[in-house]
Amino acid sequence: MLKIENLHAGIGGKEILKGLTLEVAAGEVHAIMGPNGAGKSTLGNIIAGRDGYEVTRGSVKLDGVDLLALEPEERAAAGVFLAFQYPVEIPGVNNTYFLRAALNAQRKARGESELDSMQFLKKVREKLAVLSLKDELLHRAVNEGFSGGEKKRNEIFQLALLEPKLAILDETDSGLDIDALKAVADGVNLMRSPERAFLVITHYQRLLDYIRPDVVHVLADGRIVESGGPELALQLEEHGYAWVKDRVAPEA
Ligand code: ADP
Ligand code: MG
Ligand code: MG
Repeated sequence: MLKIENLHAGIGGKEILKGLTLEVAAGEVHAIMGPNGAGKSTLGNIIAGRDGYEVTRGSVKLDGVDLLALEPEERAAAGVFLAFQYPVEIPGVNNTYFLRAALNAQRKARGESELDSMQFLKKVREKLAVLSLKDELLHRAVNEGFSGGEKKRNEIFQLALLEPKLAILDETDSGLDIDALKAVADGVNLMRSPERAFLVITHYQRLLDYIRPDVVHVLADGRIVESGGPELALQLEEHGYAWVKDRVAPEA
């Protein structure tokens, strides 16, 4: 589903990704782990098309579609979803309004008809039920005054509504509280499907106790330097990232 080949990219003339290659099949959950500053968030941002990055070499394809040629909205329409590391608060904007606008923008870009309020509310109720969420979040302003756990639940709710092919979750390096962690994990586990792939970016192994990934990759110095099963995350927890760096031959 997602195929990244020899990706070189950076920001402000500084190369951050240095030949990253990664393939994620439909239905799989891949974890991206790695030390601070390795380029994990950069990878997520580049796939989603956030401003400010320069791609100098390589390709990023989703089901054969060249994502790098698309605008961020077009990528969202093609099925890419990026949950932000630090969700934005939009005071004064009602969350329901925001979600409906996001969903309708995606539908419009796909040439589908927009949902009216009745159709939208029907979909909202469906998704709330699936995720066992209370509708209280909907009546508040976007992320305003939300706890860490509420922000994460809201993110998962956005994901459920937008039904992406590829969901990228970038967790904060400072770590989530147990509430937020479980909200993310439950959401991912509920949204797992044969038609959907997940990239779960995390600095800590803890999250992977709740989301069992199919594959764990280690991103260090701009490249995937090691890939393995869930046990790789445990080895990292035990030995630290220095252990991986020691195993990687220096760049030629
Ligand atoms: P990670 O998410 O793995 O901690 P990032 O992708 O955030 O790593 O950052 C990778 C490298 O790129 C770091 O050295 C960071 O300082 C640098 N970087 C990230 N964003 C910017 C930016 N906007 N301007 C300059 N350098 C940046
Ligand atoms: Mg970081
Ligand atoms: Mg990061």
